[in-house]
Amino acid sequence: MDFPPIPHIAKKAKDFPTIHSLDEALVLAESLGVKVDFFDLGEELQGVFVELHSGPRIAVNERLRDCEKVQVLLHELAHVLFHYDHCFLNYRLGAEFDYRREEREADCFAWLLMGEGLREDYLNPPEEGWGYSRESGAEDSLYG
Ligand SMILES: [Zn+2]
Repeated sequence: MDFPPIPHIAKKAKDFPTIHSLDEALVLAESLGVKVDFFDLGEELQGVFVELHSGPRIAVNERLRDCEKVQVLLHELAHVLFHYDHCFLNYRLGAEFDYRREEREADCFAWLLMGEGLREDYLNPPEEGWGYSRESGAEDSLYG
């Protein structure tokens, strides 16, 4: 995986622990007051976050491999942490807004927190079966 360096994300990521398992990712989310659920979100969408009265909530596609679930969870967590305040406003106004930048920041954050084992699993998907597809259009949809 190849990320352009994003210094302000790297700086923020230093405040967070390295994540070695899905359980650790869930503990981190919980410590930040973010509830996480697993649903079958079909073949396009990896995860989303929504704002409820009870607080931010992340849904992760249960079809994903564990390492992918961690990546998605941390990616959505980055949106909650860094993009939460303005995303809904922008969406409501229908403003052109830089999804790509925020997606790159979220991916960067997720990658920086993922431990070595998770990274290896992530980069070596099994031949058979459906996995995370970076080419899917999901990133362009509402705050995926
Ligand atoms: Zn995203």
